[in-house]
This record gives sequence, C-alpha cells and structure tokens, in this order.
Amino acid sequence: MSHVFHRNLHQDYPTAVQGDGPYIVDREGRRYLDASGGAAVSCLGHSDEAVAQAIKDQVSRLAYAHTSFFTSEPMEQLADFLIERAPAGLDSVYFVSGGSEAVEAALKLARQYFVEIGQPQRKHLIARRQSYHGNTLGALATGGNAWRRQQFEPLLINVSHVSPCYAYRDQQPDETPEAMGVRLAAELEAEILRLGGENVMAFVAEPVVGATLGAVTAVPGYFTRIREVCDRYGVLLILDEVMCGMGRTGSLFAAEQEGVTADLITIAKGLGAGYQPIGATLVSQRIRDAIANGSGFFQHGHTYIGHATACAAALAVQQAIESRDLLTRVNVLGEGLQARLGERFANHPHIGDIRGRGLFQGLELVADRDSKRPFDPALKLHARLKKAAMAEGLMCYPMGGTLDGRQGDHILLAPPFMLEGSHLDEITDRLGRAI
Ligand code: PMP
Repeated sequence: MSHVFHRNLHQDYPTAVQGDGPYIVDREGRRYLDASGGAAVSCLGHSDEAVAQAIKDQVSRLAYAHTSFFTSEPMEQLADFLIERAPAGLDSVYFVSGGSEAVEAALKLARQYFVEIGQPQRKHLIARRQSYHGNTLGALATGGNAWRRQQFEPLLINVSHVSPCYAYRDQQPDETPEAMGVRLAAELEAEILRLGGENVMAFVAEPVVGATLGAVTAVPGYFTRIREVCDRYGVLLILDEVMCGMGRTGSLFAAEQEGVTADLITIAKGLGAGYQPIGATLVSQRIRDAIANGSGFFQHGHTYIGHATACAAALAVQQAIESRDLLTRVNVLGEGLQARLGERFANHPHIGDIRGRGLFQGLELVADRDSKRPFDPALKLHARLKKAAMAEGLMCYPMGGTLDGRQGDHILLAPPFMLEGSHLDEITDRLGRAI
C-alpha cells in the first residue's frame, strides 16, 4: 500500500505511468481511453511534445519569479493572448493555480470592487442550486449542493441559490424554451429584490453546467435576460468557465455562444490542459479601473500565482489549439459524438437525456424514461459505472444524483480535441458495454 492520502480511501487506483495522445497507460500496461479529459482538463491529449518542449525551455530559462517582485514574459504573453480573444469589456487577467482559486479571486474582486466604489454593503452573492464552483471554503459556499456544503457549515459568505436552467427536468409543460428563460430571469430578479438590490454583489453561473448536471446548456436567451436583470440592479455577472471554457464547447469562451459578456470570467482546466496547474480570472475594465484608481492593491494572492512555467505551458497549449485549428475539430467531432450517442443510446430504457455542446456531452440515467424518475442514489450507480468503464479501458466522468430526486446520475464526456473519428466509436462501444 502506498502512503498517498487519496481522497477516496475506500478505493484502489491503478498507477498511471505514461500518456499517449488520448490514452493513459498504467503500470500494468493497460490503456485507458481518456473520454473525460480527466475532468474536462486534457483537451490536448497526453504527452504533447510541443508543450513538453515549451515547459523544458521555460524551466531552463526561469521557472519561477515571485509576483511581489516581478511579472514574467510568459505571464504577460498569456494575458495578452487571452484578452485579445476574450469577450468585450474584459481587459486583464489575474493568474492563479486552479479553478477554486479562480473562483475565490472572482468573489474577492467583486467584493473589493464594491468597497472601492463606496458600496461596501453589497456583500450578498446569488448562485444556482445543483451547482459546483470549487472546494475551497468560499467556492464551496457558492456552490448549490446541500450535501457537499452541510458538513462544513457555517460557510463564509452570504449566498442564496436560485434555480438552474435545466430544461430536461424543469421546463414546464406547455412552456417554450424562451418562456423558461423569462421565468428564470424573473426568479433571479425576485431574489435580488427580496435581498434589496443595493445589497447584492454578484450572480454566478456556469454557461454550460459541467460536473453537477452533465453538460446542460441554457435555453436560448436565458443569459441575455440574466445579464439585463444584473445590469438593472448594478449586480456583477460572474461566469464560471472553469470546466466549459477554453474551447470545450466549440468556442474559446462558452459565453461567446450565449451572446453575453461578463464582469468576471473564471477559467482553469483546459487553460493548461493538465500540463501545469493554472487557472485565471478575467477581469473587466471597470473592476480593474476601480481598484487601480482606488487602493491600487488587490487584497489577495498566493505564492504560486502567475507561475512562469505554468504560464509558458498554458501559452503553448493555447497556441497549439489555435495553430492546429482544433476548435474546428471540437465542433465536427462534437457533432459526430452526439450523433453516435444518439444512435446508440436514444432508445436505451435507462438513458433519459443526451445533451451538450462540442466535446462536452452528457447522458442522464433514469430508472424510468416516461416519469424521468432517477435511480435510488443509494445504488451509487455512478460509482459502479465508473468502475465498469475503467474495466473496459474507458475514462468517463459519472456523477451521482441528488438525494431529493431533483436530478439523476449522469455521465459526462469531455475527450481531448485531437481525437480521430475511430475514437468516437471506441468511446460509444466501451461506454455501451459499461452501462
Ligand atoms: N468551477 C467549476 C465549474 C468546476 O467544474 C470546478 C472543478 N470541477 C471548479 C470550479 C474547481 O476547480 P478546481 O478543481 O481546479 O479547484
């Protein structure tokens, strides 16, 4: 037995020793097709030589320079690269080491912004039920999953939760998708009014919901209406693109496809594609200006922020995605994957819904298709499915349903962008056997 304190102490894990494009190989030589990109991380596949070379070059030149003394070339270049391609209004990048840290930075930037502009009473955050925004205490308080939150209460910030945009379960009979968006925007507005518009700091949501719901896209018009409501009350919009961003849904930022811009966007997983730990919070000009023209000092930071090697790795990843035209592949392969999942599972008695965008696809498992009744969570179907898939040499990302029956177990697929068509068949074949 190894001395690793693994997060699941009831399970044995194979030892990964080698990456090979879309595969990970374990110490026994077994190959696993990475159909989940880990957790929507490995968008470039494993052991990419161009990225490895960029990391080696940077480490040889300068691995790390503390940000209280220096900026660095890779940090500046990566910030420029991101802002040139980001939705309008965003003008600077705060680098961190992962998704939870990016969310923490966004929360504190929002809070400090209102302090700087003389509205310190704006402390209240609104997020959505059944959401996940990370595991550090602020990000955990933000997320709307009662089970994850309860043992760590009292949590650190004031958060209330409104409904997610989850058409498969929550669209009402006779309601059009557009009407659903109107209803949910009205729900947000009612919550802002209940709290007092002058007390609300920000609303946070994932443009496409990843881990908690399994690639759930919003109904058309939802985010533009949400943006209008936020603007009406001076509430900031934070879009969490930690999972769905950086090309995963077919555009570099998922917000582009919703036609909205945000005051803060968090990114992480696909940014460094697993080659180095890195995350970032993209900051709008008005937030940056408020701090620049006020105290001038963002009261936040960690030792490894803006790590030169991590920035060099992320820059190499993003340049590879662009120069190899991989976002075109995301769209083409995404359609191919969705078509194959449809052929294979649309009539399966226990697959209630197949959904997603680009190479971010989800399947929801149900005990009964007509009533959409989820399986009993006590069956731990998601855990059994993950085990069965690994035995088939497939990495997919199943998650459990909620105890209140508001959602079923689901499987998230988020493979690397450099797959071949044959890999799509391999994914559906192996997944079919596992299910
Ligand atoms: N936000 C979202 C939407 C995520 O999916 C995750 C991770 N699953 C996080 C934040 C937290 O990121 P990390 O695990 O890198 O801290």
